[in-house]
Amino acid sequence: MGFYVTTPIFYVNDVPHIGHAYNIVAADTLARWHRMRGDDTWMLTGTDEHGQKILRTAMANSVSPTEWTDKLVENAWKPNLEVLNVANDDFIRTTEDRHRVGVQKFLQRLYDAGFIYHGEFEAEYCVGCEEYKTPGDLVDGVGEYEGQSVCAIHSRPTETVKEANYFFKLSEFQDRLLELYDTRPDYVQPASVRNELRSFVAQGLNDLSISRSTFDWGIKVPWDDSHVVYVWFEALMNYITAIGYGVDDEQFERRWPGNHIVGKDIARFHAVIWPAMQMAAGIEISERVYGHGWLLVGGEKMSKSKATGIEPKQITEVFGIDAFRYYFMSAIHFGSDGSFSWEDLDSRYHAELANGLGNLASRVIAMVNKYFGGEIPQVPSEDALAELFRSETDRANSSIDEFQIHDAVDAAFSIVDRLNGYITETTPWQLAKDESKRDRLAEVLATNVRGLGTAAILLAPVMPESAQKLWRGIGGADEVTDQRIQNAHEWEVPARVDELSPLFPRIEQN
Ligand SMILES: [Zn+2]
Repeated sequence: MGFYVTTPIFYVNDVPHIGHAYNIVAADTLARWHRMRGDDTWMLTGTDEHGQKILRTAMANSVSPTEWTDKLVENAWKPNLEVLNVANDDFIRTTEDRHRVGVQKFLQRLYDAGFIYHGEFEAEYCVGCEEYKTPGDLVDGVGEYEGQSVCAIHSRPTETVKEANYFFKLSEFQDRLLELYDTRPDYVQPASVRNELRSFVAQGLNDLSISRSTFDWGIKVPWDDSHVVYVWFEALMNYITAIGYGVDDEQFERRWPGNHIVGKDIARFHAVIWPAMQMAAGIEISERVYGHGWLLVGGEKMSKSKATGIEPKQITEVFGIDAFRYYFMSAIHFGSDGSFSWEDLDSRYHAELANGLGNLASRVIAMVNKYFGGEIPQVPSEDALAELFRSETDRANSSIDEFQIHDAVDAAFSIVDRLNGYITETTPWQLAKDESKRDRLAEVLATNVRGLGTAAILLAPVMPESAQKLWRGIGGADEVTDQRIQNAHEWEVPARVDELSPLFPRIEQN
């Protein structure tokens, strides 16, 4: 099976904050999970570099837009992937030739098929959003903008733009889009996002202006080089230009269709405009668009401009990469909004990771060393727990099929929690005092090792480094990622445990 997963391409004008990181880690977790299933997996991320906003910022900084974007990509966006330990297979920049070539081919195809026309247009435009606004998107300004209409997202006035542009006949796709949502209920998820988009489309669609002629920082329209392609329209095509659309048919056939992990605020671009473009161009519709929730800090959506922005490394430098990944993948129901606070992170780190998982691993390994000289008893797990390891492995895997990452992590941690309770109930240190209970002691410790290994395998996509460390600690050979995650309960128990330094050291904060 193939699995192609994408993040949005990120607008380089921002620096990465934990809202971006949340999205990237989710896509990376899904990709790592599918790799461990043996699926032919591909993960794409990248940067969105054209448009008026970038051009204006570059000019304001007295550099060319190319210099400006190169600097941000190399100094901020690519290093961010290392901060988060992301194993992406590709990184696309919309300023690359491969993107331009693919965009122009795609656009020419729509033009030749009669889906693009030339027309006059006047509307309100928010440069912050790079998007035309309908009256419903605007709110009354406050403060210095009192008395004016402003963008609801940026709280700044829009600009009235009058242009002769090229238009995409989006309005022709209303019926086919509704049919898509109805016949493939999984196409847009979660249901809240799907319902919202369905009712938006049911109200009727306007044609979409897809070119600009007032500035030139973009990809030229192939049949009219006085226009550049509208940045959003062009950006959506990155998902296919990165895998060889129009250039490398073999790679394109191998990877497409894709799964798009996006914030719910841009689901409309991905599940209304993008599928209409795909229908017009005659390519297969994306496999899935998953619109996750927002990260809220102090009750507000994470955003650099609103001073709630937190950079990922502010967290990873204190708690480590894996704790960062674990926290955001487990504490927030994927698909719903979630609140971030340092207090919550700190308490979950200590309760769930240090005391829950880390402590369990240290105790089990210490007891195997103490009571069996480091040799893992080669006996079956206790029935009820063996059944739990199997059922939680199944639950974790089916949760991933539904993109419910938090539930997959929960499945792994229900094993950890059960084992902690199991040790308390069975008191191995008491069993060890009685030679006649040697077989029972062997069973208890074998069950613990088996469960820890299962948890290590299931947690590897979320916490790659800690899972590997745990895996080696219980004597696992090579890489935990060599294990098949759909059979996480059936791994082959090694002869001996190994050393394990604390997985999650306690953190004292001032
Ligand atoms: Zn805006």
